[in-house]
Amino acid sequence: MDNLQEIRTYASTLGLVHTKNELEKLIHSAEAEEESYVTFIRNILGSEIRYRQNKAKEKRIKEAGFPYLKYLKDFDLNFSQSITKKQLNQLNELTWIDGLYNLVLSGPPGVGKTHIAIALAYHACEEGYKVSYTTMQSLMQCLRTSEIDRRSRAKMNRIHKSNLLVIDEVGYLPITATEGNLFFQLISELQEQTSIIITTNKGFEEWAEFLDDAALATAILDRLSYRCDRIQIAGKSYRLENRKSFLEGIGVDDDES
Ligand code: ADP
Ligand code: MG
Repeated sequence: MDNLQEIRTYASTLGLVHTKNELEKLIHSAEAEEESYVTFIRNILGSEIRYRQNKAKEKRIKEAGFPYLKYLKDFDLNFSQSITKKQLNQLNELTWIDGLYNLVLSGPPGVGKTHIAIALAYHACEEGYKVSYTTMQSLMQCLRTSEIDRRSRAKMNRIHKSNLLVIDEVGYLPITATEGNLFFQLISELQEQTSIIITTNKGFEEWAEFLDDAALATAILDRLSYRCDRIQIAGKSYRLENRKSFLEGIGVDDDES
């Protein structure tokens, strides 16, 4: 076995995937740069660590279960005047996750609630936090079936181990009494371990109605809002204002009918 092959075998045994795959490149670049032994070893270990951190970050993002990605840099603060740049920047520092604070983003459709929730949660993945995204509807389905369905159970296990849980679209669909109770149980279990971002089209005063149980709504909101920031996003729908038309784009007037 030649030296290179032997190094690859060692690297493989030690789980140094990047070093094993990039060995020749690393050696060539060290030769080209006339690196000292010290620099060479530092670079090898450094690039292995960066590779692993990157892999772990990609895994966190994949396993978070985002329906798509959104970034804060693309959020137009001029369009949406209910949240300030300072507020967004402060939220993006993510210290609220360490302090187990929750965040409730409320407002009508299309104002950017999901955009902000996903962008913050994505950044949390980048920064090493374990994140889970779910819609309220899918969460209810998992809570109902976690006893009998392996995938639901896996998702609930992951949620319990997350630093941050995004529950998108709370209040859009009515939920049953059983689901309401399971939801309360989950919020209670998570309150000392996981931060929650909720997006909702309902004000807190309307929760009793969609949960169809005033006492339960009070109990859930009591736990959610103990350490909590609420941002109400008002204004017009970004979707409607920036409506795109395929037909107008190719010069066909779709207003004629
Ligand atoms: P909501 O969850 O409040 O219904 P979304 O976050 O889904 O709204 O926003 C609808 C669409 O409009 C998304 O594609 C989102 O990226 C975009 N959008 C909403 N508000 C803004 C904004 N202020 N700047 C840029 N894009 C926005
Ligand atoms: Mg939404």
